[in-house]
Amino acid sequence: MKNNRLIIISYRLPFSIQVQNKVTTVKPSSGGLVTAVKSLDLSASSQKPVWIGCADFTQRTWEKHRHEVNDDFEYVPVFLDKATNKHFYNGFANSVLWPLFHYFPSYVDYHDEDLAAYQTANQQVCEKVMELLQPNDLVWVHDYHFLALPQLIREQEPKATIGFFLHIPFPSNELLRLLPRRCRDYLLTGLLGADLIGFHTNDYLIHFLKSVQLNLGLPHTLAKIFNQDRAVQCQAFPIGINYGLYNDGYNQPEVIEERRALKESYPGKIIFSVDRLDYTKGVMQRLDALEAFLQAHPEWKGNLVFILVVIPSRDEIQTYWERKQMIEQAVGRINGKFATLTWVPIVYRYASLSFPQLLALYTACDVAMITPLRDGMNLVAKEFVASRQDQQGVLLLSELTGAANELGEALLVNPLDEYEVADQLNAGLTMAPEEQQRRIAIMQQRIAGYDVKQWANEFFESLLTARRGQEKSP
Ligand code: UDP
Repeated sequence: MKNNRLIIISYRLPFSIQVQNKVTTVKPSSGGLVTAVKSLDLSASSQKPVWIGCADFTQRTWEKHRHEVNDDFEYVPVFLDKATNKHFYNGFANSVLWPLFHYFPSYVDYHDEDLAAYQTANQQVCEKVMELLQPNDLVWVHDYHFLALPQLIREQEPKATIGFFLHIPFPSNELLRLLPRRCRDYLLTGLLGADLIGFHTNDYLIHFLKSVQLNLGLPHTLAKIFNQDRAVQCQAFPIGINYGLYNDGYNQPEVIEERRALKESYPGKIIFSVDRLDYTKGVMQRLDALEAFLQAHPEWKGNLVFILVVIPSRDEIQTYWERKQMIEQAVGRINGKFATLTWVPIVYRYASLSFPQLLALYTACDVAMITPLRDGMNLVAKEFVASRQDQQGVLLLSELTGAANELGEALLVNPLDEYEVADQLNAGLTMAPEEQQRRIAIMQQRIAGYDVKQWANEFFESLLTARRGQEKSP
């Protein structure tokens, strides 16, 4: 990779510029991808990696504040017009692809004008890539916002080296076929412009290979798809986390202080969950399970608390703000049903957490209850395990997450079965400390051994191998 410059494309740039009360603040975001890319062996490349993303600020704000953004990357915002962005992001990406790929077909709200905006957005981002692309560059496209982009770049530059990684599930073709034929062919053909396509799990990979075969009639051998004169390698790379950051967090002074305050406020057992506001996260079913649990185990009343944190997300979309109302009603109803004059079972918060608050909750809780109805990976589960330097705490995890493939020592549950979840919650709360330690230690070893840096490095090695294979073929 020494002679290669990296061009990353993701919907969001890894910083935010916010204007509030005429004051502008620029904040870096500390997502795993940033850490991963910084760990790549790009040191000998004389050129900075480029990061292209869609701006949620104006061109004027950018010109004024771009010097305040860190200089780890050359950042290139694409300024989509408001209507295009709305139909592209809220519309096709988050009201068609997101629900469909997470097995919520009844939430799909398909409109041709949203697909048109998705095509326009992919085209505009492609134009930006073409302005910058040089012969030895490696292009790395991220996620469901840009399924069409690899082929758009390929048409302009047949020799480009392009990797794509999908951060959400790839569903069975039974779901994909619900889309109009022209739409699904466009998406699949778009992806096949890449040299390498990465997924979180083998299941997603198999679904993709089968969809390509059934819809486009293209065969595959050993996860390689043969598309005219090119081969497209597909592979599973389960994304990891920045293990050291979460493990070391345990002893940070602010974390110690927050943890102490939590333990003082809640001397009984603590159950904790944190998710973005999203119907895929199964918060309503989790609340049903808690209700079934309190009903079946009255001995816990007064002796535990469930801290439910929901992070604001996509609340301009109807299915999202409706979900918020549903959660708040259910919390009120359950608290009303079980609370005493001196105790409430659920502490609910609709806001983001700071890193020390998040770490304190991960490390103060007795059970982390992570029960999405569908999740491509679920990083919260891995972060919880990594943070437990004390090797205590129980992970109660939905088997419908990508993370469940790697975290078999968790208490795995079907999130739709409230009685099973309630039962396993009780098992978690009563698990012996030695057993907690045994399970966490195995999971820690596994996720420390394949962290986000290894994930990125392995992706790049595979991309370069796929590229070399391409050069050899006639
Ligand atoms: N997270 C956050 N803000 C918070 C609490 C958590 O950004 O207030 C982070 C959390 O640490 C994790 C990510 O949000 O890295 C959630 O990732 P996950 O894969 O679990 O779900 P996603 O939101 O990507 O569907």
